[in-house]
Amino acid sequence: MVVGHIEVVPLLDAVGTLAELEEAYPGVPAKDWEPYRELYPELFAGSRWRVPVAVHLLRAGDTTVLVDTGVGPPGSFPMWRPEREGLLPGALEVLGVDRDEIDLVFLTHLHIDHLGWNADERGVVSFPNARYVVHREALAFARSNPDRPHIRRCVDSLVERFDVVEGDVELAPGLTAFVASGHYPGQMGVRIRSNGSEAVLIADVALHPALLDRPEWVYAFDDAPQTGTRAALLDEIRDRDVLVICGHYPGSGIGRVVTLDERVVWKEVA
Ligand SMILES: [Zn+2]
Repeated sequence: MVVGHIEVVPLLDAVGTLAELEEAYPGVPAKDWEPYRELYPELFAGSRWRVPVAVHLLRAGDTTVLVDTGVGPPGSFPMWRPEREGLLPGALEVLGVDRDEIDLVFLTHLHIDHLGWNADERGVVSFPNARYVVHREALAFARSNPDRPHIRRCVDSLVERFDVVEGDVELAPGLTAFVASGHYPGQMGVRIRSNGSEAVLIADVALHPALLDRPEWVYAFDDAPQTGTRAALLDEIRDRDVLVICGHYPGSGIGRVVTLDERVVWKEVA
């Protein structure tokens, strides 16, 4: 996919089921999920939430950016039931991108499914030439739980490499990271603007596309309270010529948010 002059490549790292829907969204009765089961069948496995984890490679001029690094080596994510894991290194190889070609790793936040390939199984940095950009609050929150193995391997062992930011920042020409508060302290998304085209990578602002239609639904595992970012972003993306990118959505995770039969739905753009 191309946004103006910027290339956006989704790379699937893993897919699995994370939790019972009623655990993840305790206030939502099973019947309320029905319309979304029809719209997004790949995101359901019986009563469980089936979650793809894709990362995005962005090429902007001479700069190659990896947005998030997935779940990581198989077995890194004890909470979920994996179907497939550990796919990112192979996906990069198929694309012909060497690990040392990544100039910048941008971490939207530091949940376990967004940082897993920061380092490999032995704790050796995966992208040796990259700056690892993260928000100060996200880093501080992650480091407040130093006993978690994924934090030790993918955060504490790389602490010298982090390029810490505190607010909106240009990552490369046409790529601007913005603070998208809620879900995780210091969560950030990325706006892409190039040659009159626009896209927004929404991180986990609405981590199931049903939340685009039901922004009031509460996710039980948020580590920071929702602050209105979801509603504000919806106003910005709904029925507009803006591509909306999320690593937990079906297929490529690249689509548009449109009103269809009085529902707000995400439609993949092939
Ligand atoms: Zn996530």
